[in-house]
Order: sequence, then structure tokens, then C-alpha cells
Amino acid sequence: MMLSCEQASKLLSEAQERPLKLTERAGLTMHLAMCQGCREFGRQVSSLRDLIRRSEDHDDTQGK
Ligand SMILES: [Zn+2]
Repeated sequence: MMLSCEQASKLLSEAQERPLKLTERAGLTMHLAMCQGCREFGRQVSSLRDLIRRSEDHDDTQGK
């Protein structure tokens, strides 16, 4: 199974919202092993997620 860059970046975004299926994760891992562009994109997406998570943590403490 080979993903296109388009499919790979879509999965990288979706991985922030839902757990990926095993087949999706396997395909994505294989694609990232070969494609530096998507690895970079994945790094950007996960640093974005860290920022979001940090602000959610903040909201959570304020709520309690
Ligand atoms: Zn790619």
C-alpha cells in the first residue's frame, strides 16, 4: 500500500482528531520513511497539536 502525499498529509491531520487504523498508520509510516516533505509536515502538525493541548490544559484548570 503506497499513499500519495495528499493522502499522507490528510492522515497526518486526521491523526490529531482520531486514532488511525492500523493499516492507515502502517501506510503513513511507510510514506514518511520515504518522503521528507511529509515528515516536515508531520512535524508542523504535531507542534501545532502541542500548542492546542497546552491551551486546553489551561482552560481545564480554569474550569476547575
Ligand atoms: Zn509525501
